[in-house]
Amino acid sequence: MMKVVIAGGGTAGWMAACGLSSRLASLLDITLIESDEIGTVGVGEATIPPMRNFHRLMNIDEQEFMRETQATFKLGIEFDNWGDIGDSYIHSFGEIGQRSWMAEFHEFWLEAQAQGFGGSLEDYCLELKAAKAGKFATSVDDTRLNFAFHLDATRYAKYLRKKSEKAGVRRVEGLIKQVQKDPQSGDIKALLLDSGELIEGDLFIDCTGFRSLLLGESLGVEFDDWSHWLFSDRAIAVQTESIAEPVPYTRAIAHPSGWQWRIPLQSRVGNGIVYSSRFMSDDEAKQTLLNNISGKMITEPRYIKYRTGRRQKSWHKNCVALGLASGFIEPLESTSIHLVMTAIIRLIRLFPFGDSSTALADRFNQESTTEIETVRDFVILHYKQTNRTDTDFWNAYRTMDIPDTLAHRLDIFKKNGYVWPDDVALFRVDSWVQVMMGQGLKPQGFHSAGKLTGKESLLQSLAKMADSIDKKVEKLPTHQQFIDHYCAAPKAD
Ligand SMILES: Cc1cc2nc3c(=O)[nH]c(=O)nc-3n(C[C@H](O)[C@H](O)[C@H](O)COP(=O)(O)OP(=O)(O)OC[C@H]3O[C@@H](n4cnc5c(N)ncnc54)[C@H](O)[C@@H]3O)c2cc1C
Repeated sequence: MMKVVIAGGGTAGWMAACGLSSRLASLLDITLIESDEIGTVGVGEATIPPMRNFHRLMNIDEQEFMRETQATFKLGIEFDNWGDIGDSYIHSFGEIGQRSWMAEFHEFWLEAQAQGFGGSLEDYCLELKAAKAGKFATSVDDTRLNFAFHLDATRYAKYLRKKSEKAGVRRVEGLIKQVQKDPQSGDIKALLLDSGELIEGDLFIDCTGFRSLLLGESLGVEFDDWSHWLFSDRAIAVQTESIAEPVPYTRAIAHPSGWQWRIPLQSRVGNGIVYSSRFMSDDEAKQTLLNNISGKMITEPRYIKYRTGRRQKSWHKNCVALGLASGFIEPLESTSIHLVMTAIIRLIRLFPFGDSSTALADRFNQESTTEIETVRDFVILHYKQTNRTDTDFWNAYRTMDIPDTLAHRLDIFKKNGYVWPDDVALFRVDSWVQVMMGQGLKPQGFHSAGKLTGKESLLQSLAKMADSIDKKVEKLPTHQQFIDHYCAAPKAD
């Protein structure tokens, strides 16, 4: 039986253990090594909707998962002070209006705006209006909502551990002291623990976090640094008591030099500030964070340092890196856990059962590159497309060069209002539109499909869509009411 060794037991390690054991248990012998001495990064609490597909693959019961991780629902992210001080918009997970094969909904709406009607683009998105109203249900009438979760990262890893161990994964507690390689092939043969135990394997999954102990340190795969596009290199996290019912969205509040997250769970709130040491000291960052939290602190501030970028390959020799060991882009769009999840699915699909895995590794690396570059571009958009001129931080972002791929996208949208989904189907057209417009970018031109519709017909169909959404939002329970109902302990038989 093929031996798989997972190094690291953070979110990435246990997601890998759970994913592989739930799908390939009878073909693999899986061992996970983690070290209490080192611990996990302990953050990573906001997710995006595809996580639900991953949970379905792992046969995870959503209600049980929510109870175990103190999770709440998430319909999008609210961005405050990003386009300019005082601005606010929501990047929601919902569909906006109805598109036609010829043009996207925002182009019909832009035509309506030009003719003096149509209200706000937000009026045409159920998830967005529900989020603003603090309401939630998984579906209303015949419409299913598109949603994700806020979760407790430590509880999530424990929950996945329980499931993985039940499916046969062996857990070893200990510090990896040495990575032993085959001198001929350069493949990893075994990991030596401080206890003296030697863990041998055929495939090694590096989930050792920022250390990237196997792929980076031992196999020497270089790191591509993206800090010239994304300046932040530090975060401080702190948990507080809840003082109000949880809102069904993440908050990303921009500050003069950095931004702050607020993630409401059932039992507490996760807060943190992301900043660049070039523009703000640790003390200033801490003070900014503490001045902007509500509720009593229940943990001491935790300092995290990181580099933005990625390893040039995620799969090299017989080692695949997942999570922070393969790269990191700041959590503005809650994409890291998602990238772990898609990498696990990709690994299961391309699993190296045969003799030679080089072609599989190449394919894996190619897909991973496209995916993370998409995330990179989307996150850069939030910084580059700003009208803020109040600090060196925002001025540096506003005037910096950006990747050609993003420059091309912005140029076409600005001139023609045209948007296309990204190559890996992560950010839909509606995501790009919400963020570009939310950041203050208004297209100068757009498709004339709205003119073909005729004013009266356009007016009526927009009014009908907005009215139908309002009626659905009215019917929804509050987020808290829905959580109480959905996460209630199952009744004993
Ligand atoms: C500030 C911040 C905020 C974030 N917010 C989000 C978010 O909202 N949403 C999101 O999707 N993602 C977020 N992320 C990313 C998310 O936290 C990670 O993707 C996720 O937690 C996976 O981490 P990991 O398992 O790769 O690493 P870690 O949690 O660091 O785990 C590393 C593991 O390796 C083990 N290890 C390391 N060295 C050794 C050794 N020598 N011997 C034995 N074991 C070892 C450790 O013990 C640990 O178990 C955030 C990250 C940061 C830094």
